[in-house]
Amino acid sequence: MSAQIIDGKQAAAQLREELARKIAKEEEKPVLAVVLAGENEASKVYVRNKKKAAAEVGISCEVLELSASIGEHALQEVIEELNENPHINGIIVQLPLPEHLDSQRILNSIRPEKDVDGFHPYNAGLLAVGNPEAVVSATPRGILKLLESTGIDFTGKHAVIIGRSNIVGRPTAALLLNHDCTVTIAHSKTKNLPDLVRQGDIVVAACGRPKIVKKDWVKPGALVIDVGINRVEGKLCGDVDFDNVREVAAFVTPVPGGVGPMTVAMLLENTYEAFCRQKQKSGHSCHCGGHGCSHC
Ligand code: NDP
Repeated sequence: MSAQIIDGKQAAAQLREELARKIAKEEEKPVLAVVLAGENEASKVYVRNKKKAAAEVGISCEVLELSASIGEHALQEVIEELNENPHINGIIVQLPLPEHLDSQRILNSIRPEKDVDGFHPYNAGLLAVGNPEAVVSATPRGILKLLESTGIDFTGKHAVIIGRSNIVGRPTAALLLNHDCTVTIAHSKTKNLPDLVRQGDIVVAACGRPKIVKKDWVKPGALVIDVGINRVEGKLCGDVDFDNVREVAAFVTPVPGGVGPMTVAMLLENTYEAFCRQKQKSGHSCHCGGHGCSHC
């Protein structure tokens, strides 16, 4: 058996095309503010990519580049101004922040309706209680889209998620639970990880350990989503031993070209949905016509 490769690059391109068509009909354009504090080179590249992708779908992206030495109070004031600015629809703070800043406190200062990364405890809480109004963070939303793209009904399937971070593992678990999967979350203290992963009809690897998921960990016919981004000897690889796992899995995502491009596309979708909700709240309509934007 050789797994079908789930092409995240193509799925993301299609999503961006649909989004661009909807946004083209809007008189006003959605605006995303990206707060970048410090000189982290990888963060700069991520922000550049987000800005480029936003421009392609018609979302204007304002990047606020702040000094690495900015204090917590000053940064919260910057975010408060963005919260109050009616022209800004979405706000993201690029992580990691410089070490002297408390990331969670900073994220908590974003108004939940503008929290397009879905990292605010209010949105995480809505997701945890299965409320469809939650802004779901981009990577878990992208994972769900990729799973749905296989056409497999995953009701009642056992999903094993490796990783329990607030940005990937936990929200992915909540999202799959809300979609009627039976969910197991594994982490660094989990015992007998290979045995546990072998029980998964769906495996989501999000632990940042290069190629840790081996062929003999994977149930034949499983659906394997690789979230990991690792650099080994200058080359990118995921958390899944792709070349071998593809011999047993039914579907597998590649790295690069799997979850990564979907994450950016879903961030743009979250920004458009925030724009639509804010329009509606102020008594205006948007042009999504209820298709694609779950809030209209
Ligand atoms: P974190 O480091 O925040 O979390 C890693 C999680 O994996 C933790 O819960 C940790 O457990 C668990 N873990 C670590 N080692 C093991 C192990 N040997 N066995 C089982 N569990 C383990 O990472 P993130 O969640 O932020 O990211 C995970 C990976 O996904 C990274 O490679 C990251 O680069 C990538 N990523 C990719 C994105 C994309 O768009 N493709 C987006 C975001 C992240 P514990 O809690 O016990 O420490």
